[in-house]
Amino acid sequence: MTDCIFCKIVTGDIPSDNVYRDEQVTAFRDINPSAPTHILIVTNQHIDSVNKLRVDDEALIGHLFTAAKNIAVKEGIAESGYRLIMNTNADGGQTVFHIHLHLLGGAPMKHPMG
Ligand code: AMP
Ligand code: ZN
Repeated sequence: MTDCIFCKIVTGDIPSDNVYRDEQVTAFRDINPSAPTHILIVTNQHIDSVNKLRVDDEALIGHLFTAAKNIAVKEGIAESGYRLIMNTNADGGQTVFHIHLHLLGGAPMKHPMG
């Protein structure tokens, strides 16, 4: 997707503060953090949102969560705790339409659900 900001981060056309990358996912620090640790884990392949997921994507989405867990360990927030969020469309608060998992931690979350 030529106009997608996260596709451009995956290809390196837009700079990002990367914390992890493999053949399926890329993780980088959110430009406008909502917590002391705020990392986005994105699929290297463009998928608009959860609404566009297919059965064939199940292993990829599982990998997204495993990557998030490993990053939480590396960032030192696994034991204190963290929140994983995936927003979908307008009511979910999605602003970038390339599927991504927010990893938030480093302080108690202010709202029970976000
Ligand atoms: P969402 O609202 O769930 O779609 O999340 C999009 C997130 O992407 C927001 O938290 C933004 O701060 C973040 N974001 C947008 N552009 C960039 C960028 N160039 N680098 C890092 N994070 C970004
Ligand atoms: Zn994209």
